[in-house]
Amino acid sequence: MSSIFLSPPIQKIHNPLADYLSIELYVLRLDLIHAQINGNKWFKLKYNLLEAKQTQCSSLLTFGGPYSNHIFATAAAGRIFGFETIGVIRGEPTLPLNPTLRFAQEQGMKLLYCDRQTYRQRHTQEVQEEFKKQLQRSSSQTLNQTFIIPEGGGNLNGVRGCMEIMQDKQFFDIICLACGTATTLTGIALSTKSRTNLPTRIMGFPVLKGARFLEGEIDRFIRDYLNSELPTLVNYPASWQLIYDYHFGGYGKIDQQLIQFCHQFHQEHHIPLDYIYTGKMFYGVIDLLKQGFFSPSKILLIHTGGLQGNLGIEQKLAQKRDNDS
Ligand SMILES: *Cc1c(COP(=O)(O)O)cnc(C)c1O
Repeated sequence: MSSIFLSPPIQKIHNPLADYLSIELYVLRLDLIHAQINGNKWFKLKYNLLEAKQTQCSSLLTFGGPYSNHIFATAAAGRIFGFETIGVIRGEPTLPLNPTLRFAQEQGMKLLYCDRQTYRQRHTQEVQEEFKKQLQRSSSQTLNQTFIIPEGGGNLNGVRGCMEIMQDKQFFDIICLACGTATTLTGIALSTKSRTNLPTRIMGFPVLKGARFLEGEIDRFIRDYLNSELPTLVNYPASWQLIYDYHFGGYGKIDQQLIQFCHQFHQEHHIPLDYIYTGKMFYGVIDLLKQGFFSPSKILLIHTGGLQGNLGIEQKLAQKRDNDS
């Protein structure tokens, strides 16, 4: 299953201030592993797809917002690995479809829409039964052939896959990554071997506003994983912290400063960043660097992908410019 994926390169990036401070910056390019199922989304899907196969499910049902990287990746994975896919999309349908949903539909994903209130209840049994019934009315699927993947692949299968992100990688003092559900951070914390005197520190940058609840979620995720029957690599998670200052107003919110930063970073380092996740984290790391936050160290920034979303956002920004002028 993994053979169609490139192993992701680690690139050193040069920043005059970092060089001056003896700080080495590296980027793990998960955005390059596959054109469509890329970034952390492949790792979060992998064991969900395997479980779906093993339990003889022929279709996958999952959830996401209208620009969701997870919806995009699941639609592509379904086509490539032979599952029917159903995407439950938060909000009203809008036509023409945005580039994310158009792609998903082209891969064969069936799109269902649901209002925000129902969407909030998406993890309850009742609502899931309702989605399955809707589905059954419009196709010949029987209910037990449908495997449900939570939004963003945020379950223990997702954590398990993310434990493979840092497999066989060299040692870094600090690992930085953007966080939504923090499934990826949990997987990294559960796969980073601590060394005496040389512990790795993991720094998560939540892209949501008011994300303090994530700390409890991560603790719970870690506990649930270690209590599960799933394979483990460490007995204790690596130490992690969350940095709350770089959400730019909340999920999906972007401003001119962030856009400019992403463009400039792309020009200087030839690495494109997405505005929703990696752009905010990279911005945060460079800003902390300027504030003197880091001592001499080797820092890895994980590029978790998400570039497909920029297309839809740029389209929306262009429309707004047209309306304003
Ligand atoms: C989904 C996503 C994340 C968030 O991952 P979590 O495991 O939910 O924290 C980060 N970066 C990108 C590009 C994503 O698409």
